[in-house]
Amino acid sequence: MALYRVLAPLKTVEELDEMLQDVDHNAQALGMSDFADGHVDPPGMFADEVLLLEAWSAGQRLQAELEEMQACPGCQIPAYDWNGVCAVHG
Ligand SMILES: [Zn+2]
Repeated sequence: MALYRVLAPLKTVEELDEMLQDVDHNAQALGMSDFADGHVDPPGMFADEVLLLEAWSAGQRLQAELEEMQACPGCQIPAYDWNGVCAVHG
């Protein structure tokens, strides 16, 4: 990541780890909201940034799964009336 390389000499290892976690988390959250908004192509500024693309794609998959589960009858049955496990989603 270009920003990481620029900041690396200026930060401690802990600060860099924290920054990377924030970046990863935010890229995943963006992937989720993009999927919810119907955007299935990653942001252009993520081009060639493998970590960002992977996190964004993970967010897309997670949101797709969440939406599938929201529409799944097996996931909607109340726990008291069910063994708590959807046959499809576990
Ligand atoms: Zn389900």
